[in-house]
Amino acid sequence: MKKIAVYGKAGIGKSTTSSNLSAALSHMGEKVMQIGCDPKRDSIATLCGRLMPTIMDQVRKFDVVDEKILSEVIFEGYNGILGCESGGPKPGTGCAGKGVNLALQLLDKFKVLERYGITFALFDVLGDVVCGGFAQPMRAGFAREIYLVTCGELLSIYQTNNIAKAVVKVNSLGVDVGVAGLINNMRGVAHEEDIVEAFAEVLGVPVIQHIPRSKLVQQAEFKGQTVIQTFPDSDQAEVYRSLARKILANDKVYIPTPTDMAHLKELVAKLDKKSA
Ligand code: ADP
Ligand code: MG
Repeated sequence: MKKIAVYGKAGIGKSTTSSNLSAALSHMGEKVMQIGCDPKRDSIATLCGRLMPTIMDQVRKFDVVDEKILSEVIFEGYNGILGCESGGPKPGTGCAGKGVNLALQLLDKFKVLERYGITFALFDVLGDVVCGGFAQPMRAGFAREIYLVTCGELLSIYQTNNIAKAVVKVNSLGVDVGVAGLINNMRGVAHEEDIVEAFAEVLGVPVIQHIPRSKLVQQAEFKGQTVIQTFPDSDQAEVYRSLARKILANDKVYIPTPTDMAHLKELVAKLDKKSA
């Protein structure tokens, strides 16, 4: 079973990329499970057509979550893909990371990935705070290959750099984990590919895919679907399939070499000047 985690800051496009990746992989014969680890709980929405109940919903509803209760929040979506959402506490009432942690413990306890015959597990994880629960997918051996979703905006690069620091830390604790690559989910920043390539060089990791911004993403999303499902013949779908092929073939991970804000600013400013 191949297990990967997709990290990045809120709103950067983790779930969009993950769902299209899962959809593409399912067409390549993989039995995929996508696990949303974000209190926003919309990771699998475009695989299932709508927002689904979460593991934390079950934890709140029942004193003890047994295998049957857990299975009620594991859903079959597009093309046989399985999905679930950790969910989170009610806003303002607790630690979202703890919810992720608890959800992963339950999946582990009942050997869900093994029981459903999963060949490819994808953890879609919020990386704004790589504390406690959010570090769990990389810390507890759930995923060895970490993919970092970024774009060419300074704030996103800064946050990606912070997640890279967390990977270094977890690796130093003796966990076999590393960054497999950056995914540049582009925002339309000038020289965006150059900026992200330059940042990748600093980190010492490859850019595995540049993903263009596309209206087809929203058009598919309105229907509760992925681009792969709604527009299978589009260029955008081909980009996601290309990403899927590369990830499937990859087994390399790198221990990144993160830097500081001043260095990142300098790097972005230098490339930005080119457009002035
Ligand atoms: P995250 O999971 O990182 O919080 P999402 O995947 O939910 O982010 O993406 C946030 C929004 O950005 C989505 O509603 C989606 O419509 C949009 N989006 C993501 N990637 C693209 C893209 N390549 N082209 C156009 N819109 C995109
Ligand atoms: Mg998301």
